[in-house]
Amino acid sequence: MTTQVSGRKMYLAGKWVSRDRTIPVYDPQDHSIIDTVPAATKEDMLQAIEAAKIGAKAAANMPVHERMAIIQKAADYIEERKELFARTISREGSKTIREAYKEVKRCIETLRISSEEARRIQGETISFDQMPGSENRVGYYYRFPIGIIGAITPFNDPLNLVAHKVGPAIASGNAIIVKPATVTPLSSLLLAEAFARAGLPSNVLSVVTGYGNEIGDVLVTHPAVRMISFTGGLEAGEEIIRKAGMKKIGMELGSNSPVIVLEDADLREAVESAVSGAFWAAGQNCLGVQRIYVQESVMDEFQQAFVERTRSYRVGDKQSELTDMGPLITEKEAIRVEHLVNEAIEKGAVLLTGGERNGAFYSPTVLINVPDDCTIAKEEIFGPVVLLYSVPDLDTAIQEANDVNYGLQAGIFTNNIEKAFRAIKQMDVGGIMVNDSSDYRIDSMPFGGVKGSGLGREGIKFAIQEMTEPKVVCFKL
Ligand code: NAP
Repeated sequence: MTTQVSGRKMYLAGKWVSRDRTIPVYDPQDHSIIDTVPAATKEDMLQAIEAAKIGAKAAANMPVHERMAIIQKAADYIEERKELFARTISREGSKTIREAYKEVKRCIETLRISSEEARRIQGETISFDQMPGSENRVGYYYRFPIGIIGAITPFNDPLNLVAHKVGPAIASGNAIIVKPATVTPLSSLLLAEAFARAGLPSNVLSVVTGYGNEIGDVLVTHPAVRMISFTGGLEAGEEIIRKAGMKKIGMELGSNSPVIVLEDADLREAVESAVSGAFWAAGQNCLGVQRIYVQESVMDEFQQAFVERTRSYRVGDKQSELTDMGPLITEKEAIRVEHLVNEAIEKGAVLLTGGERNGAFYSPTVLINVPDDCTIAKEEIFGPVVLLYSVPDLDTAIQEANDVNYGLQAGIFTNNIEKAFRAIKQMDVGGIMVNDSSDYRIDSMPFGGVKGSGLGREGIKFAIQEMTEPKVVCFKL
């Protein structure tokens, strides 16, 4: 597809600005340039922070009904331009057009929930008279916005994961500066446009496009920024935590999610959901299914059906409605995945299907007998690769599933309620799906992980909790 490169501007302190130095945005499918964005400098980021100081005051003073109306209008703007948003996601990223439409729908939902939650930011009265000597006091606490939030976002959901920070931040009366992933900045700029058109006061939102290693530190270390809300990989997350200093931290990081399939499960259902969960967005999904522990009595049947279904997955042109899976975000990423799979095979893993790379495309891949000392046995693959393990029983499955430094979500397929509850209790994760794969989320549920998968929770109401602080008020009578 040929595109007229227009040169997108970034949204800085209420203005659309360009810079001489630009960053090309590629379609990973054919490496064609689809647009450029400004390469922001440290000074640009400082300007965004200075503007956000003014914006934070404006946001905090905005009545709740105005915040609600603006967020609803931004959602309407997106709803009226679904195709533009979906095409942008699927061109700059690696999602197919069907996957992209789903993200747009979820983004609209995220914003509508944010608008609703704005009216539910509540406090409580406090019984000060519980303390002898405090009988003549009455009071309460309410939640106030923390001020300026720095949001750093990844490439794999370039619209909705930005909305998960911008929606709650505005709903709770904060200013927010977004630093989107360098490879996928266009969707976040469209989101900024939606808010600008919706009448969001200047300086409440900036979207600053630029390289994380050039401008990230300014945002992360600045004392005026009261919270860093980060979604991305563990390595960058840990670096940000080390540098951030005295501020709140929200960390939505990666995982290598496990799914357990017991012998009493509906195997057809398990195969269908686990295949979709493994290969959604070419496996570049923090909830993506990476490790499947199958009870040995049904392993052969499950494995055969899983491989068959994987082989039927249609890989190809992202813009076609018929395509199930597109390329990885860059050829470099596909090469990284290829190396990890080859390392596993060299160490004794058996390739059941896939394992082929063509540019940025990597075929849906299934491995068994992956030794524990392979990188992919313990680390996040973030690609279309799934590992099948045969296990004697549930306890072994739970033990092996937990034996990694991640814990975002898990799935278990069983019709035995006692076993389901055992898994719910014993699995070290932030969410567990019974009779579904790990890859299930609605935007209002608490979302986040344990161990290397993160700190804190998103899911609008929960993000608002993180983005506000309680203030106690006490009247002495
Ligand atoms: P990434 O490489 O960690 O980058 C994420 C963001 O951080 C990008 O905007 C990046 O900027 C920026 N960044 C990198 N280093 C930085 C630094 N030192 N200071 C400030 N900013 C920095 O992750 P990704 O490859 O885009 O995304 C994939 C990862 O995100 C996976 O691990 C995935 O599991 C995780 N993820 C988690 C969730 C969740 O909700 N738990 C959701 C989606 C994805 P540049 O692009 O300029 O480098």
